[in-house]
Amino acid sequence: MLVRYRYRLYPSAGQRQALARVFGCARVVYNDCLRLREECHAAGEKISDSEVQRRVVTLAKLTAEREWLAQVSSVALVQACNDARRAYRNWFDSRSGKRKGRKIGHPVFRRKHRRQSIRLTRGGFCLRGPRLYVAKVGEIRVRWSRSLPSEPSSVTVIREPDGRYYASFVVERQTVPLPACGREIGIDVGLNRLAVTSTGEIIVNPRFLRRQQRRLARAQRALSRTAKGSANRAKARRRVAVLHRKVRETRLDHAHKTALRLVRDNQAVYAEDLAVSGLARTRLAKSVHDAGWTQLLRLIGEKAEQHGRGFHRIGRFVPTSQTCSACGANDGPKPLSVRTWTCAACGAVHDRDINAARNILAAGRADRLNACGGTVRPPPAVAGPAEAGTHRSVA
Ligand SMILES: [Zn+2]
Repeated sequence: MLVRYRYRLYPSAGQRQALARVFGCARVVYNDCLRLREECHAAGEKISDSEVQRRVVTLAKLTAEREWLAQVSSVALVQACNDARRAYRNWFDSRSGKRKGRKIGHPVFRRKHRRQSIRLTRGGFCLRGPRLYVAKVGEIRVRWSRSLPSEPSSVTVIREPDGRYYASFVVERQTVPLPACGREIGIDVGLNRLAVTSTGEIIVNPRFLRRQQRRLARAQRALSRTAKGSANRAKARRRVAVLHRKVRETRLDHAHKTALRLVRDNQAVYAEDLAVSGLARTRLAKSVHDAGWTQLLRLIGEKAEQHGRGFHRIGRFVPTSQTCSACGANDGPKPLSVRTWTCAACGAVHDRDINAARNILAAGRADRLNACGGTVRPPPAVAGPAEAGTHRSVA
């Protein structure tokens, strides 16, 4: 399976400058692509992918206001075109209903103070001894925190807003199946709690995360009070970025550990399809917690594939929070404020989330029984993350 391996980079001052140039060019090309596609769409004109690239890269280099594009590696610019194409197409297909699942927003223009990145395929980079060679930038020092499992097919070089540099390699990794076990589990990804399992386990967001989030809110307020363009603003922006990183890293670390534990202890994990659950719940709650859920579910999927375990999403609407998991009666809709309820039919007292997790487990098992014509076979592997991407999902 294809996975990403991420390492910290330590570019020299000269390399940082060269990288800034490529980041800038890739950003401009990406934005030009989006703009051009939008203009063509508005004019009712069809434009081919190669024509977009020709106009935004090849022809743009000949103009006075874009001639600096010629100074950087063209691999990075071509990949920026591809990224923009995918972002635009995903949005377009999502809007027209061609793409299933959650609605995808309009692609946003890349901005200077956000995360900067370039994607390079073979030809744009190579490994030279312990260093990463990037075309027209040089050999960058890497801290190899673990060894690469195979030759990388592509790399994304990233500069985070807090000033740190990373290389994220796409590599092929062999799966390591775990010995079979008989347990199966349903999980309900939640609002206040990260997840609740059908066994009654409550997985909370770590306390540390909440503390960081409070600090982050304070830093953000401080940033908004500074004057535009001032040195204090730059400092405040950096402080916000550092806290963002800490929140992100804490959440990711916690999600990794949780996902591994769930996959290791269970032969199969069932969860609600987010696109389905989104219909049943409020929009606001969704957007606030989305990052945590999607990340956890993505990691469970990856680890299940890595270890030969099953991960299944319930692909249909099941009223998991209204149905009694003990007797199967539908008790009617419940507002989010209702945390526990008593079944009118059988008198069972339910924690809202644990009950939902049990229903998810039951629905998932039923789905698989139907799909296999009565016998439960080993689950098919869940597709891992696609090789290409905007990289945002692998925070
Ligand atoms: Zn009941």
